[in-house]
Amino acid sequence: MTVALVPLVLATHNAHKVIELRQILGTQLDGIDLMAYDGPEPVEDGTSFEANALIKARAASAHTGFAAIADDSGIAVAALGGAPGIHSARYAGSRDDAENVRLLLTNLQSADDRSAEFLCAAALVLPDGREFVELARWPGSVLLEPVGGGGFGYDPVFKPTGYSVSAAELHPEEKNTISHRGQAFDALMPIVRASLLGLHT
Ligand code: IMP
Repeated sequence: MTVALVPLVLATHNAHKVIELRQILGTQLDGIDLMAYDGPEPVEDGTSFEANALIKARAASAHTGFAAIADDSGIAVAALGGAPGIHSARYAGSRDDAENVRLLLTNLQSADDRSAEFLCAAALVLPDGREFVELARWPGSVLLEPVGGGGFGYDPVFKPTGYSVSAAELHPEEKNTISHRGQAFDALMPIVRASLLGLHT
């Protein structure tokens, strides 16, 4: 007998995130059919990571009629008053990781305090309208120049607290265990599984 998988839509058009999330979620997806969302992208005009994650999940759930998860993330730098924050993806004007990193390093040229944190809000919206959101932080500091070839975005210039390497030098599995995204989805997935499968882990 085949057991039907429960559909869950992942509301992101970012290919890096889809790959990272599948790795992060692993066996937490047992019994779930995770589908990439390819419908219209909503305007992310929220003023917090939580608000923007919910906007994305809401749009995907409304468009498909299924439960949807989404995340919104970025880097907040103390010396820049929390910038780029929710504007991390387009900090330098377009979605160009190298340009964003260059602008960040330029803006930090004269800063003594290079402390920063990655933040991630992970949201779940159910077809009946119930909404859940979890926020997680990954503290560290901004390096003087990019190091390492892995990861994406600001990973090459982010040194996690307690590590002597950049996030771009971490093995993906290690990054996923400790990162803001890993932590946010670790907190959200028990709610997803309880809501979709009636399982309490
Ligand atoms: P959004 O969550 O798709 O709006 O975009 C988040 C942006 O923040 C990405 O485009 C990256 O620039 C940055 N970002 C978020 N998480 C990470 C990460 O784990 N590593 C490096 N950069 C990240």
